[in-house]
Amino acid sequence: MHRLLLVRYGEIALKGKNRRYFINILQDNIRSCLRDIAGCRLLQLDGRLFVEVRSDDIPACRERLSKIFGIVSVSPVLVAEKSPESIKEAALNAFREKARAGLRFKVETKRVDKGFPLTSPEVSSSVGAWLLQNIPGLVVDVHNPEQLLEIEIREKEAYLFTEKFPGPGGLPVGVSGKALLLISGGIDSPVAGWMTMKRGVTLEALHFHSFPFTGERSLEKVFDLCRILAGWGGSCRLHVAHFTKIQQEILEKTPEKLLVTLLRRMMFRVASRLAERTGALALVTGENLGQVASQTLESLRAIEQVAALPVLRPLIGFDKNEIIAVARRIQTYPVSIRPYEDCCTIFVPQHPETRPGLAAAAEAEAPLDTEGLVNTCLESIETHIMS
Ligand code: ATP
Ligand code: MG
Repeated sequence: MHRLLLVRYGEIALKGKNRRYFINILQDNIRSCLRDIAGCRLLQLDGRLFVEVRSDDIPACRERLSKIFGIVSVSPVLVAEKSPESIKEAALNAFREKARAGLRFKVETKRVDKGFPLTSPEVSSSVGAWLLQNIPGLVVDVHNPEQLLEIEIREKEAYLFTEKFPGPGGLPVGVSGKALLLISGGIDSPVAGWMTMKRGVTLEALHFHSFPFTGERSLEKVFDLCRILAGWGGSCRLHVAHFTKIQQEILEKTPEKLLVTLLRRMMFRVASRLAERTGALALVTGENLGQVASQTLESLRAIEQVAALPVLRPLIGFDKNEIIAVARRIQTYPVSIRPYEDCCTIFVPQHPETRPGLAAAAEAEAPLDTEGLVNTCLESIETHIMS
């Protein structure tokens, strides 16, 4: 047997042409996410979006829909003809398996079709009375019900539902263009990436790898993190760049205290060039304002100076525990806390400069062949499609 799932999306903020565009992309994302569930179809009925699915596949389908940005909530629905009798019959079917002695319930009706002969309160009270008559032990409680039965009477049919499962909200991935996430194996950057996707951005990721200073396991973490992110966006391209040469040159030729600033400036240069190639419109990092040397405003400024694109830092207003809460929710946390080495943690200077000046950074970089190093790093990039 097939059932329908009603998919609600955040429509309040959407107007005019944007709305059509938003819905088309949301539909594409839903289709692509459910493509391997046999017999699953997307339908538009009465101005609403539905997924038709075999009863057995409802849990799997719901689970997938809960990770599609733009969806506010999902409800399994029963469809009834628009007559008071059919609605009552459907209400009984919808309620039978929920029923138990003492269950406090309430019926709520929304009448979109104002031509329907009964008003919303009339439908609610007659359906409520019918349920009381036919299922022993139910109790009406309009103030604090344990179980709600919602009825929507629309142009063509009536829809009944008893459950509402939350979606992630946000905007459908793809409506806001593309950005490039600088991803480490840490806790913060995957969360920053997720928050950017939530605003409708298609994400590509760039990781700097310092083989042999950092090993296969640290790379594997980044792959695993990108796979998790891909679960929220359909897929994610991961670009892996070899950073060892840049790191060695910086270690050899520049003052130790500026190491982190200069490493980051090189990352931003490479990322800007890659973004140009892939059509990304912004860079995204997991940077925060904290106590570490690379995360003061002076430091962010010195690093950002070399970026050719806007740099998004979605975590800037978050405390660490807030970041961790999101990381747990999206399931990146257990991967991020696996022990690993990062290219920026292996050679940490004793006394890093916490307030690097722009001129000092540029001067320290002078002995480097910046352009040559960036080009070599770009040539080293290997791209993987994670899904
Ligand atoms: P994270 O938890 O994401 O590692 P963090 O709080 O440890 O962040 P830093 O190590 O200072 O902060 O890194 C700041 C940001 O720089 C990261 O969030 C990430 O966006 C980027 N970054 C750091 N290391 C790398 C790397 N190896 N490859 C790509 N980007 C990186
Ligand atoms: Mg880190």
